[in-house]
Amino acid sequence: MVRVRFAPSPTGHLHVGALRTALFNWLFARHSRGIFVLRIEDTDVARSSEEMSRSILEALNWLGLDWDEGPIYQSQRFEIYRQAARRLVDRGLAYYCFCSPEEIEQRRQETQTRGEHWKYDRRCLNLSVQERRELVNRGVPAAIRFLVPEGVTEFDDLVHGRITVDHKNLEDFVLLRGDGLPTYHLSVVVDDIDTRITHVIRGDDHISNTPKQILLYRALGAPVPEFAHLPLILGPDRKKLSKRHGDTSVLNFREKGYLPLAFFNFMAQLSWSPGNEEKIYSIEEMVRDFSLKDISKGSPVFDLNKLEWLNSRLINELPLPELITHLRPWLEKDGLWSDELLTGRKDWFERLVNLTRSRSRTLVDLGAMIAPFISERFSYDPEAVRKHLLGAELDRALPRLKDDFLKLENFSAQEIEKALRARAEKEGIKAAALIHALRVLVLGRAVSPGIFEVLELVGREKTLARMENLSGARKIINRLEEDEG
Ligand code: GLU
Repeated sequence: MVRVRFAPSPTGHLHVGALRTALFNWLFARHSRGIFVLRIEDTDVARSSEEMSRSILEALNWLGLDWDEGPIYQSQRFEIYRQAARRLVDRGLAYYCFCSPEEIEQRRQETQTRGEHWKYDRRCLNLSVQERRELVNRGVPAAIRFLVPEGVTEFDDLVHGRITVDHKNLEDFVLLRGDGLPTYHLSVVVDDIDTRITHVIRGDDHISNTPKQILLYRALGAPVPEFAHLPLILGPDRKKLSKRHGDTSVLNFREKGYLPLAFFNFMAQLSWSPGNEEKIYSIEEMVRDFSLKDISKGSPVFDLNKLEWLNSRLINELPLPELITHLRPWLEKDGLWSDELLTGRKDWFERLVNLTRSRSRTLVDLGAMIAPFISERFSYDPEAVRKHLLGAELDRALPRLKDDFLKLENFSAQEIEKALRARAEKEGIKAAALIHALRVLVLGRAVSPGIFEVLELVGREKTLARMENLSGARKIINRLEEDEG
């Protein structure tokens, strides 16, 4: 049975690179009806935090990446790693090393001054029993190093193909540090063996670690898993994706109002194509079609435009009740939600969401677009005011239009439009001038869906009240000008 794991270090929030690793492990596990293990690699006690562990779990939950086993916390398993290292010493496959970091650094520099390549010189491998005992008695801390045998290690990476490493290029790496803490190689391999991992899927920054880890699997008498190393993600400038390219933490994308399914599609398409790039796939479809064989070797580029495009597509394609479920927390956060929107005002609210979703790229956009329909807490965009509310003809035409609106039998899009066009003609001004002015007065902004339907949904009472605020809206400009001047 397939058993995979995702093993983040909780030294920061989950970022998109790690998330793609999680996603591919999860897709592979679900596709193969296998087991997805979650392991928190918190051996670096100083840099790890519980808060970050929680944040990582939250990000995984947001995307629906559920795990079957774990979370296993490495910090609770130190004794197990120590025992494994000591077992290797007992079997002559590892040895104690008493060299301090300062001594090693000095010898490294000396070697390099001679123009030679440094790797650990095995000074402690040949200590006599007597010498070793003396060092122990003096209390010199002892690390444990793996004794790298002669030869080569080969493995067939499922993404990169055959990789061969001559052991001449490997040094006797540390398994257990002098302070008794395990190194990454030791804890990873011990845990992967204990949880019977069959496939290690991770970022290709780990390729160079793999030969050492294969040696460890063998030394510990365990079968070696398959490896698939995912190519590095690049920013739009084709350099390694990093903070320079903006906030790359996964939860940041939730904060920005992306839908989990859009983000899931976007992330999956970094290195894997489910077929049609124009289509938004359901999770079930991706699980069904996923294959490690189809992962591409080339480095994918993290293109936010693509994410935005997928997100706005999905906002428009989702069944309305589902979209409303996603939107609800955003409205709640701004105090705009009431349960009436699902009961007494359901039809109205659904029309409203349907009308506004076509212009929204994110849930944040959608929430902002909807706000003026629900509450008086909206502000005027100064640019929009400057452009559309300063015309002198409005002082005369707007009150008259207001009277026209008051007289309408039905405050419906159709009647509103008729009244507005008639008014524009009587005043000898363009209908567009009134349309733009109304949009800014009623919604605070210069762009919106069709204004007549907007006004119908805002309702007569609110529309009329907001039309009266022409001078109030204009004041924003005066205030800005004062500030500037
Ligand atoms: N904790 C390691 C990392 O975050 C993962 C190690 C592994 O997958 O082998 O990069």
